[in-house]
Amino acid sequence: MQVITIDGPAGAGKSTLSRRLAAELGWTYLDTGAMYRAVGWAARRRGVDPADPAALEELCRGLRLELEGGRVLADGVDVTGEIRTPEVDALASAVSRNPEVRRRLSRLQRELGARGRVVAEGRDMGTVVFPDAAVKFFVTASVAERAARRRRQLLEKGRDVPEAELRRQIRDRDAADASRRVSPLRPAADAVIIDTTGQDLEASLAALLDVVRE
Ligand code: C5P
Repeated sequence: MQVITIDGPAGAGKSTLSRRLAAELGWTYLDTGAMYRAVGWAARRRGVDPADPAALEELCRGLRLELEGGRVLADGVDVTGEIRTPEVDALASAVSRNPEVRRRLSRLQRELGARGRVVAEGRDMGTVVFPDAAVKFFVTASVAERAARRRRQLLEKGRDVPEAELRRQIRDRDAADASRRVSPLRPAADAVIIDTTGQDLEASLAALLDVVRE
């Protein structure tokens, strides 16, 4: 198994970097956040309360998830576009607190990782899912930088949200991720920390490639 893990908080530039790193290496990109999002999406569609463990676990047992060439399918329905909304952000975060959901998704992630040559992106890739990964990264950036990037993304979609509000949301989400009972967000002991504050994408990518090619 050849796996590179990339963990870190939301908005640090992880997804773009993971995608680019996988493309540079010719490896497969495994977007594990998309799996939690697909479960959140399915919960909404079936009217399941993410805070109801029994209902959520039953939903998860019956759900068929597929990741194919950058598309995400839930029970055969292509949900790639629909899982990138603020509503699904919140649902994904809620379902990710359930230990049984995490267990099921982790198992699926390991199955996909066993195919080899995978760049696995998430929150617990290096700590829980792939503890023996060849290379582990923890990608982070300052709260101010992450808020500024988020603001630019939202402006592109025509939404003008004050930066102070975004900073508050990011701090709240970091606190929730770090204090989660199951798989709290933290760097693996052997992870290389990449701080993308004040760094453009190409510079961050070069830093990752330097480590991988060492
Ligand atoms: O990375 P992304 O924003 O798509 O992740 C969506 C949600 O799934 C986040 O709330 C995150 O906490 C959760 N997640 C997780 N474990 C992962 C990947 C994502 O708990 N490995």
